[in-house]
Amino acid sequence: MCDKANDTIYAVATPPGRSAIAVIRISGGNAAKIPVLFSVPCPAAGQFNVSRLMLAGKVLDQVILLFMKGPHSSTGEDVCEIHCHGSRAVIDSIMAHLESTSGLRLADPGEFTRRSFLNGKMDLSGVEGLADLIDAQTPAQLNQAWAQIDGALRAPVMAWRAELIEIAARLEALIDFSDEDLPPVIEQTLRDGTVALITALAENLADGGVGELVRDGVVVALVGPANAGKSTVLNGLAGRAAAIVSDDAGTTRDIIQIELDLYGVPTTILDTAGIRKTSGTIEMEGIKRSVTAAANADLILIILDGSDKNWPEACAKIDDVINREISQSSANQDIASGKVINTRPRLYVLNKADRGTVRASYNIECKDKYSDTHDMLAISAKKQGDIYVLSTALAERLTPLNHAEGSVIITRQRHRQSIQAAHDALGRALAHDFQQAPELAAEDFRFAAGALGRITGEIDVDELLGSIFSAFCIGK
Ligand code: GDP
Repeated sequence: MCDKANDTIYAVATPPGRSAIAVIRISGGNAAKIPVLFSVPCPAAGQFNVSRLMLAGKVLDQVILLFMKGPHSSTGEDVCEIHCHGSRAVIDSIMAHLESTSGLRLADPGEFTRRSFLNGKMDLSGVEGLADLIDAQTPAQLNQAWAQIDGALRAPVMAWRAELIEIAARLEALIDFSDEDLPPVIEQTLRDGTVALITALAENLADGGVGELVRDGVVVALVGPANAGKSTVLNGLAGRAAAIVSDDAGTTRDIIQIELDLYGVPTTILDTAGIRKTSGTIEMEGIKRSVTAAANADLILIILDGSDKNWPEACAKIDDVINREISQSSANQDIASGKVINTRPRLYVLNKADRGTVRASYNIECKDKYSDTHDMLAISAKKQGDIYVLSTALAERLTPLNHAEGSVIITRQRHRQSIQAAHDALGRALAHDFQQAPELAAEDFRFAAGALGRITGEIDVDELLGSIFSAFCIGK
């Protein structure tokens, strides 16, 4: 009978293609028998051998063989690793031989990590940290992933959960003694403990979403009138010619996108069609897309031609059309009141400052309206120094400058929702009279403990596992 969870599984752990070395991993009860399939002995536990794998009397490859005895392995099971040369012929021959051997099967995506989790080698937040580590593209993402693997989220969540279970247990004890008077000092102690927990959860929720920003990255939309210099700004930020720069208005008709590491935050910059009156249907579609992109961006960078004396009117029109789009998008509205709650932060750039007139008009027009909030910059997109000023201004708005590295523990919406749910449940618990209705408060404490337990995978997570592990590649 097939027992999926106890099968011995194998997979290539390295990416496809030609390489110096490839790694094939095998995990499960039959792992120690794998070297024998190739006529070589299995290394002792925790040791490695350099061996020549043989097949049908011929040398297949000279490899390094590693063996780890469960539970002292990454999956908690017996694990054998074959570090072979990374040629198609070698990998295919080894894999074909494994495939033809009974008692082994190809691993599903993320199945090695799933086994680590099921065998208690890591908790669910650590698994997510590992997934983030594999996907990390910037040093900030790398640091955040390792912090999570090492328990930056797990440790406080487990401490909060233990504390609230303790309070709940003491409260439940009161249910049995409900006829007797509860000394006020005990009730006060339980309430103080609950308030302290609510404060700790609220402090972590009020982190400005920095962990999610570092993990998911941010989107900046470049919008503005045709010919204001949007593509020049994009190219300056990219440090290469990512968009066509031309004098013909309407050159950028679709959206061009570049990815930047902006002081640690992965940033996607979208260059959009110039916003202007047009009768061309293709260009009109481009403009529609640019307004939609702006209404959904984390930051809107409005580029204006400062040497055009009509820039204030152009600016007002662009603001207007974006505001209209934002107000129509349900993502920006509070469902209950229907009010716009996210107007999308904006940075205005008066470009072509090298033409002299810009700075004069900037001083007159912007003194009151923008200077106080530093939301408008006068630059020349053709000057490297000005592009640096712009990228710093962007970074100030997008990066977690006011957060010490490692101080943020929430990196996914899933964590945020669970901590928020626990926070709200504790608030509801406090609203009950602990003397008169301890069982109602106890129910809220149980709910809060459940919400926190889901973060680390201690309870109720079957429905989550599929989506978390399928995001891994085969072999991890
Ligand atoms: P877009 O339509 O907004 O993308 O504008 P482009 O980036 O294609 O630029 C339009 C024209 O303005 C091109 O001829 C650019 O060389 C020019 N341009 C862009 N930035 C500057 C600047 O800072 N100073 C000057 N003098 N010209 C600029």
